[in-house]
Amino acid sequence: MLKQRHDIKSQTLASLRQHLQEAGYPDYAARQVFNWVYKKREESFFSMTNLSRSLRHYLKDNFYFSSLRLVKERQSRDGSVKFLFALEDKTYIESVLIPEGKRNTVCLSSQVGCRFGCRFCASGLLGFKRNLTPAEIVNQCLYVSDWLKRREAKLTNVVFMGIGEPFDNYGNVIKALRIILEPQGMYIGKRKVVISTCGLAPAIKAFAAENIGVGLSISLHAAKDSLRNIIMPVNKIYPLSELFSAVRLFNRRCKYSLTFEYIMISNFNISKEDVLRLKKMVKGLNYKINLIPYNPVSSFNWQPPSSGEIFRFCRWLKEEGVFFTLRRPRGQDIEGACGQLRLRQKQGKI
Ligand code: SF4
Repeated sequence: MLKQRHDIKSQTLASLRQHLQEAGYPDYAARQVFNWVYKKREESFFSMTNLSRSLRHYLKDNFYFSSLRLVKERQSRDGSVKFLFALEDKTYIESVLIPEGKRNTVCLSSQVGCRFGCRFCASGLLGFKRNLTPAEIVNQCLYVSDWLKRREAKLTNVVFMGIGEPFDNYGNVIKALRIILEPQGMYIGKRKVVISTCGLAPAIKAFAAENIGVGLSISLHAAKDSLRNIIMPVNKIYPLSELFSAVRLFNRRCKYSLTFEYIMISNFNISKEDVLRLKKMVKGLNYKINLIPYNPVSSFNWQPPSSGEIFRFCRWLKEEGVFFTLRRPRGQDIEGACGQLRLRQKQGKI
């Protein structure tokens, strides 16, 4: 019977160490392998010259290297770059690189598709296919990091805000996160990593208990249940009261950044009443609200706010003492909203 081989980039340092120790190799062997894979970016076990011959053979017999196939790369006028990747089962995911000054942020996908169907997001339109493995998540990060290195730049920040709901693929995302943060691995600083969720309250509580040290971002987009039910159907399962009890727990346990994403949509969620509700909801939290003017996706009928509406909403928030930043929409000319490139590929337009 053929032995099942494991994807080496799905291994955390701890799991690889345990695997190699059980096979009789010393404690430091896993560190050496991590060093080759993530620091020296070597993808052949036989080229890992400081490993014993026996270990190299063992690795080759028990592990393999997966990779992503680039299908399309599109650069926006504002500098962001979108990558469409094919996976081994011929499904597609996207990653986006967002350069801003000295900061280079990659936005990672965590699933093929998404089952939550938020009514502003192209990712939900094609339904859910499957979870990504830890290696498929890590490979996106490595691809973009290598892309930057070839241009003498460095990957500095990672956000889980691409296709999929990270907390719906909790175990694999946490493993990928540990590999990305690992000092012997990719070693991205904890404070430079943010996980975004549509509001899976039980997973937020579990994440608070892990206390990993990375930031949390909540896709909020509405300040009352009746509106949020429309734009984010997940709210019917975890309404705002439940979501905020989980968020308050995270905020108490973990002193890391907590942001709320709020897409401003004309005639929908930017009234004075919304400001007053927001103020009440975030009271006592250590937070920031990211305001994002709606970036049109052809499948939805929402209207972007006018500059007058944006100005008025910001003024109200300021008057009520609600902390916010206004984010420029990025990559509009390259289908910058999450899932749009994949949707076009599926529609045969790429
Ligand atoms: S915003 Fe996130 S959770 Fe909502 S449909 Fe898109 S990928 Fe899924």
